[in-house]
Amino acid sequence: MAQVDGSAFFKIGYGLYVVTTHDGRRDNGMICNTVVQVTGSPARVAVTISKSNYTHDTVRRTGRMNVCTIAETAAFPLFELYGFRSGRDADKLAGVEVTRSENGLAVIANDCNSFFSLEVESYVDLDTHGMFVCRVIEAKTLSDAPTMTYAYYHANVKPKPKPAAGRKKGFVCEICGYVYEGEELPPDFVCPICKHPASDFRPLE
Ligand code: FE
Repeated sequence: MAQVDGSAFFKIGYGLYVVTTHDGRRDNGMICNTVVQVTGSPARVAVTISKSNYTHDTVRRTGRMNVCTIAETAAFPLFELYGFRSGRDADKLAGVEVTRSENGLAVIANDCNSFFSLEVESYVDLDTHGMFVCRVIEAKTLSDAPTMTYAYYHANVKPKPKPAAGRKKGFVCEICGYVYEGEELPPDFVCPICKHPASDFRPLE
């Protein structure tokens, strides 16, 4: 019988991006790996965002966003800043030096090698997520640094869990490296650092 092997999904190649928005009050940014160019002429990019993210609601309302391509030169604090809390309660860009694209949205120039300014053309409701199919209205290369892939992030950027010696059984968050100690991970567990669900944890070796 056909089976869906969950680990196969880790073999899909992804880049990593900061998606910036403005909700009318302040700038916001989130980390995203589901960005893909879908047509060339006119240039369109599809960005898929969890409905639990504040950015999803902001883009639904405002119809625009910037996608900034994270370079390998970026370090873990970038992911902590944009990835591990919500723009609903935190002013993530407070004190961050940004440049602006022509649409007025923030560009995270220091840690990114390109950006795209997008306008939403259509929306696909995917139950837990929404896919925004967007027209590219501005795009620019910022540096020649290589793009950070999800695999590069896992291998080189995410903090390594401490060595197993003397540690109890547990589960490690694939996203941020947080370790839950215990025999069994509760199915409704949510990572206290990055807010990802139990499905993003794997048993410690
Ligand atoms: Fe986590």
